[in-house]
Amino acid sequence: MDALVRSANEPRATEARGWSDSVDLTIDRVSKTFGAAAALHETSLKIEGGELVALLGPSGSGKTTLLRIIAGLEFPNTGRILFDQDDASALTVQQRNIGFVFQNYALFRHMRVLDNIGFGLKVRPFFRRPSAAAIRKRAEELLELVQLSGLGRRYPTQLSGGQRQRVAFARALATEPRILLLDEPFGALDAKVRKELRRWLREIHDTTGHTTLFVTHDQEEAMELADRVVVMSQGRIEQAGTPDEIYDAPNSPFVFSFIGESSVLPVNVKSGEVLLDGVPLAIDPGDTAEGAASLYFRPHEVELVEAGTGAIEGIVESLRRSGRSRFAEIAVPGIGRFEIEIIAESVLNSGDPVSVLPRRWRLYADASRGGADA
Ligand code: ATP
Repeated sequence: MDALVRSANEPRATEARGWSDSVDLTIDRVSKTFGAAAALHETSLKIEGGELVALLGPSGSGKTTLLRIIAGLEFPNTGRILFDQDDASALTVQQRNIGFVFQNYALFRHMRVLDNIGFGLKVRPFFRRPSAAAIRKRAEELLELVQLSGLGRRYPTQLSGGQRQRVAFARALATEPRILLLDEPFGALDAKVRKELRRWLREIHDTTGHTTLFVTHDQEEAMELADRVVVMSQGRIEQAGTPDEIYDAPNSPFVFSFIGESSVLPVNVKSGEVLLDGVPLAIDPGDTAEGAASLYFRPHEVELVEAGTGAIEGIVESLRRSGRSRFAEIAVPGIGRFEIEIIAESVLNSGDPVSVLPRRWRLYADASRGGADA
């Protein structure tokens, strides 16, 4: 069998072939300020060896800063980075031995693909440098791993964007890094290529088993690719969990509205009831604190019901189509607007009165960050 390919019955290639020793990565109370501005508040996260974790968040939430601190390109004000049990604080960028892939390829234009891949090995100090033949063999193997066999003699300009990014990936793997850090690696590519590369990256990861931290602001990419998704906002981790946990049990209004489609209405919790404009809804407040709260639900997790059954009463304001789905914007006079997805059989027209009940929902007390489930 090829040294880089494993069959379904074999143990992970990491165990079998020594691809990577699956280092645990611990971010321990790391904070970072630039001047007076905090880019990262005290942040802690543990990533198990071999995990593929996506850091997801809006622009400026601190994702790249965290990645650069792990790589040793930036220094934290407080806290430590641990590789397994070893404190990385005293290690240089080189000593950390991290594979880094950026958005913009960063390949050497004047070098052929194979030379780009082997570069990190070629510039090693003499006593650690493999022979020219061994470097070439390793580069050829990596080229095969990233499914570009036969293109080794090309220059980067003779490749598509997606192919260049695969070469960048192979180059990052050449030095047998302990950890892989990917900063928006598909950010510059069009949607179709991004989708292909997502699947490709997952396969490569399953083969090589590197502990991988992947920055993206594309939630679909994060949810599809990662074992765990870490949602960041304003220099803090809002939630870390499996894609299902993040989507089905978002622990804050921010995560609920950042992931997937969401609708929200202001309500009041009083005496065990959820009131919309003073009228009780057929919704159990659970342990949500009394007072102002926000009712969140997904546009596709609602049903149209009879009026007067504890439903949200509104008027269809507009209708729109998005791909296979149809949506209606519902106005609740004096309160707000929200969207619902219309199932195929429903006939709704602008101006129709409707009664809507969320099938699943979460309530967040406005003052606190706790939530209650449907
Ligand atoms: P994006 O998705 O846009 O890349 P991000 O989540 O990666 O954003 P960071 O690049 O980590 O965010 O930036 C976090 C905050 O720190 C931002 O407010 C940014 O302006 C600030 N910041 C980052 N690097 C520096 C720097 N070298 N000097 C000053 N401020 C910085």
